[in-house]
Amino acid sequence: MKENVDLARMTTLGTGGPARYFREAASLDDVREAFELAEREEMPFAVVGLGSNMLVADEGFPGVVIRLVGELASVSMVDDVLQAGGGASLAVCLHRARAAALAGLEFACAIPGTVGGGVWMNAGAYGGEIAERLERALIASSEGVEWRTPDELGLEYRRSNLRHGEVVLRAEFRLAIGRSEDIRATVADMQRKRKAAQPTNRRTFGSVFKNPSTELGAGQAIDQAGLRGHVHGGAQISPKHANFIENASEATTADALALIRLARGSVQERFGVALETEVQFLGPVARDGTTWPADSLVR
Ligand SMILES: Cc1cc2nc3c(=O)[nH]c(=O)nc-3n(C[C@H](O)[C@H](O)[C@H](O)COP(=O)(O)OP(=O)(O)OC[C@H]3O[C@@H](n4cnc5c(N)ncnc54)[C@H](O)[C@@H]3O)c2cc1C
Repeated sequence: MKENVDLARMTTLGTGGPARYFREAASLDDVREAFELAEREEMPFAVVGLGSNMLVADEGFPGVVIRLVGELASVSMVDDVLQAGGGASLAVCLHRARAAALAGLEFACAIPGTVGGGVWMNAGAYGGEIAERLERALIASSEGVEWRTPDELGLEYRRSNLRHGEVVLRAEFRLAIGRSEDIRATVADMQRKRKAAQPTNRRTFGSVFKNPSTELGAGQAIDQAGLRGHVHGGAQISPKHANFIENASEATTADALALIRLARGSVQERFGVALETEVQFLGPVARDGTTWPADSLVR
């Protein structure tokens, strides 16, 4: 267990302060030790995956953070089932599935995160999502360990019912028999589209907001509110896709948060639509359990 470990380098945006305690966990015992420390110190607990959908407070997270490695980041195939540790990257899962000529995870080529982060978010792209392929996930908490189905995990559009203090240790995905060259071609096509539409060569955390159930997408609404390219401190609303925030020049989390508030307020005012953030927040927890940012604007 290390103390005061910088979380900025563990996120794709590259902002935020330290975790009070941090450890890499390679086994259930390691995870249990981290739970015990959090309980003993009466501190909050969280997992970081590849930090590709995470905004960490500049003042840091006053709790215990773990990252899953080793056995808890391994991938194996048993017939048409892909078994992966929560810390395995979706890219490695896709690679292994393609090598075994098993289809169904192609959408994951667009998602630079882990299996655990993917389950937490029910990540998806190009019409595919984790919920479609997930058979079950092994969840650990201080209460114990249990397998849960997608229904039990409450997987919906970019959400699950998982809470900090619950860890996706492993997941199993049922895939379909396919052909490696078809999988390769589908992935190449998706990646081409991605590159054309989104700032893939910039530091971002993916979509800032979920797409609302209106005809106008979040990015279009922010664009039409005149905010494409808008700069605050070191952060910028992406000139390429307005539902992304780029770390343009030594941005802080406060810079990104200011843009989130501005975009949400402007879209509410102009279109009467309340955008809901997709990015996950990690920061101080108040005595009454309120989590940072204690600001209804970003919920
Ligand atoms: C360029 C870019 C493009 C993106 N495109 C897409 C896209 O097309 N579709 C999409 O859905 N997302 C997209 N994202 C967002 C992101 O990649 C996904 O949400 C991804 O699933 C997050 O995984 P992660 O491992 O990085 O999670 P993190 O960002 O590290 O964490 C996200 C949440 O999951 C929790 N978590 C992580 N691992 C575990 C675990 N093992 N157990 C319990 N909780 C855990 C964290 O505590 C946090 O609350 C994109 C991001 C970027 C930077």
